Amino acid sequence: MVRRILVRAVLPLAALVVATPTAAVASPVPSVSATAAAEGLVDIRSVVPDAIVDLRYATSDNFVKQRLYPTNARCLVHSSMVNGLRTAGDRLRSAGYRLVMWDCYRPHSVQVRMYQVVPDPNWVAKPTSYARSHEAGRSVDVTLASSDGRRLDMGTKFDDFSARAHAYATDGISAVAVANRSGLRSAMQAGGLSQYSGEWWHFDGPGAGVERPILQAGLN
Ligand SMILES: [Zn+2]
Repeated sequence: MVRRILVRAVLPLAALVVATPTAAVASPVPSVSATAAAEGLVDIRSVVPDAIVDLRYATSDNFVKQRLYPTNARCLVHSSMVNGLRTAGDRLRSAGYRLVMWDCYRPHSVQVRMYQVVPDPNWVAKPTSYARSHEAGRSVDVTLASSDGRRLDMGTKFDDFSARAHAYATDGISAVAVANRSGLRSAMQAGGLSQYSGEWWHFDGPGAGVERPILQAGLN
């Protein structure tokens, strides 16, 4: 009985049947820069119009305690993630939830800077001469909010480097947070986006692990 109430109150993704069209009035999304377009990057707002963009590296509210992105940075993703993110966004919307974007495309120069500040490969991927994952715009860090923007309890903050951040962690994680992680994962996996088991917030698009030439684009 208790469990049924919990699940229903948290994220009834299993009950999803039809996506309800969003009533949100989407204002036109400004075009991305020519450089970003040439790299195949698109603005998340043109993919998931109700996504909340909360880029932590555009503030000092992140693990390096420094702002690493310009304050007007956009959440850019590679076009190979578009279908998957749209599917995930539709599923969540129909259940009364929204995606929150913590990190998207991350320029190589920022990865270098991050590693200078925290030169520990356990915490920060050591920059290489190739782009993959966030540096290729093919991975995102996300969490969930309710339709009114309130963040859901996911058990840890972003960039929590403890075992509690593991996607399938249960020790020290409430049943509600476990269910919320599971709901996020289901929606993302429905779009073919795969969970990184070490961080509940990190999802990879197709080919995210392939080493590619470093992108020249900034965050606009
Ligand atoms: Zn990530």
